[in-house]
Amino acid sequence: MKAIDAARIRALPKAELHLHLEGAIPLTALYTLVRKYGGEGEVPSLEALARRFVYTDFEHFIRTWIWKNKFLREHEDFDFIAYEVVRALHDQGVVYVEPFVSAGEHRNRGLDPVEVVRATLSGLVRGYRDFGIGYGLIVDLVRDFGPEQGMAWLRSFAPLRAEGVVGIGLGGSEHRFPARLFQEVYAEARRLDFHLTAHAGEAAGPESVWEAIDLLGVERVGHGVRAIEDPRLVAELARRGVPLELCPVSNLRTGVVTALARHPIRELLAAGVRVTVNSDDPTLFGTSLVGEYLALHRELSFTWPELVALARESFAASFADAADRAAHVAALERVSGLDGRPAEGQDGLEGHAMATSDKPGDDAPALLPPAGPGEAGHVASRDELLRILHELRDHLPQAGLDEDTARILDHDLKVAEEHAQGVSPKGIIISTRVSGVGEVLKHTGEAVEHVQTVLLPLVRRAADFAMHLFQ
Ligand SMILES: [Zn+2]
Repeated sequence: MKAIDAARIRALPKAELHLHLEGAIPLTALYTLVRKYGGEGEVPSLEALARRFVYTDFEHFIRTWIWKNKFLREHEDFDFIAYEVVRALHDQGVVYVEPFVSAGEHRNRGLDPVEVVRATLSGLVRGYRDFGIGYGLIVDLVRDFGPEQGMAWLRSFAPLRAEGVVGIGLGGSEHRFPARLFQEVYAEARRLDFHLTAHAGEAAGPESVWEAIDLLGVERVGHGVRAIEDPRLVAELARRGVPLELCPVSNLRTGVVTALARHPIRELLAAGVRVTVNSDDPTLFGTSLVGEYLALHRELSFTWPELVALARESFAASFADAADRAAHVAALERVSGLDGRPAEGQDGLEGHAMATSDKPGDDAPALLPPAGPGEAGHVASRDELLRILHELRDHLPQAGLDEDTARILDHDLKVAEEHAQGVSPKGIIISTRVSGVGEVLKHTGEAVEHVQTVLLPLVRRAADFAMHLFQ
């Protein structure tokens, strides 16, 4: 068996979905800025700069965060750091990124938030050209500035939606500025066609996550790690299929967990919650995306198929177009060494739509199977998909589920059916619903042969085909 090391993880195509640009500036790039603004008196060398990032305590960490921002003085600096961050991601095998930029935070140094965003986009465009890394920028409204300011900034960013600002985020003090204050801001963001995420369940507990999913309607939760404290919330996250942007090393550094080995990522996965793994502020926390995956392997015994499943989920949970997501996953399947098949003992990670496929050949990536009537393992039309969904509902009562679970799953399949009948159905929605059903079946109906031999194969066919039919 091949060892799991940094090189192997680097070679795995991955997406990074929770990364603060200002906390990810590579040290060499930051040193360039230090010299640009005459900061050599304070930090005479790259080594001295590196030493500044060894913290004595949390207070020191905050001071360092603020300190390094003073070397971001001109709009063009954001173009520079965005490009340098992309370069560093490229070195780690990241092929798609959704970075946050806290644009408003820099206005106290005379910078215009809209111009900060524009400059950041420019750096991301250059990074895409040179390294082929796809991106969707997320503007963090920083809750500490309050909802009114957030609304004003949001509207000023609206014209940039078409230029690559894909979503809105909300970092800052969860306790002092709870999500509920931003309900209108998020409703407006949705109206403006932005994707939505918000930090929740990191500093504050489960109630913060409830507010984010119920009141803000977020599509992903930033961190969300403390959801584990509320079993009802965990079940609800699993049921709704809301992915968490977990950042394990960050949680360790900020004291959310006392040791990586105690991080609840496994419990969340086992409960059927969709999770992604990210690096948050890699420069500040002395981590990297490769480092996060490696830490999961070393501290929590993540196997190769489990790491591959996390990488797969990083694409599935992204705000990229369905076609882009499918293409990334297809590339992942080709290099993962798993032959597109879930490995044994994967503990529930394998059933996601993005994970399953019939054995893909080199020319037939997992999610884009050659269509055609009678092709083994694939159905050929919307009618056929509907027939499979119908069959799934018919067979569901024999899975031996309790009444509540059976009702919920039946409802999910019905939604998938209704969606498939719609005018312009989205494959990802059907696929996600059906896969969610598959996850529950695997965990609750494991022992029932009917689940293994009839239901799960139907789930896979339906999920695969939905993605293929409605790209
Ligand atoms: Zn964060």
